Amino acid sequence: MALTEETLADLALSRSALDRVALERRRPEILTELLDDPRTRVVEVRGDRMHVAPGGGTAGSAGSATDDGLRLVLRAPEPADHARLGLLLGRDGDRTAYVGVVTQAADGEVDPAQDGWLTLRQAGEALAPLDAGVFTTALALANWHATHRFCPRCGAPTGPAQAGWVRRCEREGSEHYPRTDPAVIMSVVDPDGRLLLGRGAHWPEGRFSVLAGFVEPGESFEAAVAREVAEEVGVSVDGARYLGNQPWPFPSSVMIGFEATTRETALTIDPVEMAEARWVSRDEYRDLLRSGTIRTPSGISIAKRIIEHWLGQTVESVVPPGLATGF
Ligand SMILES: [Zn+2]
Repeated sequence: MALTEETLADLALSRSALDRVALERRRPEILTELLDDPRTRVVEVRGDRMHVAPGGGTAGSAGSATDDGLRLVLRAPEPADHARLGLLLGRDGDRTAYVGVVTQAADGEVDPAQDGWLTLRQAGEALAPLDAGVFTTALALANWHATHRFCPRCGAPTGPAQAGWVRRCEREGSEHYPRTDPAVIMSVVDPDGRLLLGRGAHWPEGRFSVLAGFVEPGESFEAAVAREVAEEVGVSVDGARYLGNQPWPFPSSVMIGFEATTRETALTIDPVEMAEARWVSRDEYRDLLRSGTIRTPSGISIAKRIIEHWLGQTVESVVPPGLATGF
C-alpha cells in the first residue's frame, strides 16, 4: 500500500527510522553482547512512560503544533540491565544498537510523576522519527510481555527469547509471538460532503471522533469498515478507500484508516457503543471547534489526520493549538 498524495503521509507513529534487524534476534547471546558493549544505547520503559528531554528532534508530523522537539534520554548499558527484560529494538543508520529495558516497580524508584517521564501520547508527536519508532516499538513489546506471561496452550509460565521478540513455554517449549490487533478507523461522508462524528458511550460531552472498531477473525479490512458503521449508526457504506495506517500500542493495535461514502443519512445508533452521532458540514465543524462545543482527537492519532483530510486543513489552522485537542 504505497503512499501517494491521496494517502496520509508522516503519521506520527509510522515514522520509524530504525532497522529492526530481525535476523540478529536469533542469536541467543545477542542481548548479552549488546548489554556488555558501551556503544549500545539503552532506553528504559517504566509502565507506559519513557524518559524524554527537550531538543534533538524535529516534529515530523504534518500539521504538528510543536515547535520545539523532544528526544529520548539514552544511556549506556549498566550491569543491572542483564537481569531486566531486554528488547532489541533495532539499529540506526550508524549501526548503533538500541535496546529497551523494562523497569518495573520491583526496581524501585518508579514515579510516574517524575519530571521528564512521558507517555507516548504526550511525547510522540514531538519526537524525531527514530525516537518515535523506538518508543512505539518498545511500548508495544513491553505491553505484550506484561500480559503474556503464561502459555496459551498449557498454562505454564513463559519466558522471553529471541531478544524480546518471542516468549517460550517453560514446560513444552512452544513459541509465542508478539500480537498486534488490527482496528479500522474511517471517515463516513454523505452526498453533501458532511462528515459523520460519533461520541462513544463512555466519552465525556463534546468529545467526538470518527468511527472505529476491531477487525474480526475471518474479516477483511473493508468488510470491517462496513460492519462497524452499520453496527454503530445503522448506515450502509458504498465503499471504502484506504488512507494510511499506524501502530497504536494502547495497548497493542495497529489502526488502518479509510474514507467511506454513503447515500444514507438517517442514523440509528447502538446505545451500547454510542452516546450520540451527528453529521457536520465543514463550516459547522469549524464553528463547533471555535466555540469549544466539540474537541478533536489528539495530535498523534490517525483520527485527527482523517478529520483534517476531510476538512482540507489542519485543526490548528482553525483554532489555536491546545484549545481544541486533548484526548
Ligand atoms: Zn505450554
